Amino acid sequence: MTHDPNCLFCKIVAGQIPSKKAYEDEDVLAFHDIHPWAPVHVLIIPKRHIASMADVTEAEAALLGKMTALGPKLMKELGVTNGFRHVINTGPDGGQEVYHLHLHVMGGPRPWLKG
Ligand code: 5GP
Ligand code: ZN
Repeated sequence: MTHDPNCLFCKIVAGQIPSKKAYEDEDVLAFHDIHPWAPVHVLIIPKRHIASMADVTEAEAALLGKMTALGPKLMKELGVTNGFRHVINTGPDGGQEVYHLHLHVMGGPRPWLKG
């Protein structure tokens, strides 16, 4: 399936739901998370519908590589200079809420670590 009409992130890809975009090309879209867990929090998704990491095969290796490598580029562009996290939640026990594969990339100051 390349597009799931019932999928929230497919609707974002199609422009049916607005998002604050950080990057877009023919394969991937990056946009800011609506409920950020960090000062800078972007979601990097494939444009094609893939439900989760549980559905990924070696055929998606290049796509996953592209998504992963986009993280540091975006963090730099968004002014993150002191480190960031890549997170992918998979399935119910992995805390996945939206079943369209997405890579969380989070950066910015972490004041709770001070002291
Ligand atoms: P998950 O728990 O599936 O790994 O993460 C889903 C993420 O999608 C959450 O961090 C949530 O805030 C974000 N999210 C859910 N709905 C929307 C939306 O409509 N727009 C944006 N930009 N982010 C969303
Ligand atoms: Zn989708």
